Amino acid sequence: MADEEKKEVIKKKKTSKVWEVYEAKGELKRKNSSCPKCGDGVFMAKHKDRVTCGKCGYTEFISQKKEE
Ligand SMILES: [Zn+2]
Repeated sequence: MADEEKKEVIKKKKTSKVWEVYEAKGELKRKNSSCPKCGDGVFMAKHKDRVTCGKCGYTEFISQKKEE
């Protein structure tokens, strides 16, 4: 009984869900989508664990996922 309740709590605590929502929309357009150095016209390229600017090389790591 107690174990099952614990599992429920863990499921609801999923922090990476935010990124799943962004991915579902195709591109990372709502947040951090443009380079802070180059301005709004330069979009960031999205990778598995980071976003990068193809123009100046700026890299921003995505640290929302749980690492082991
Ligand atoms: Zn840039």
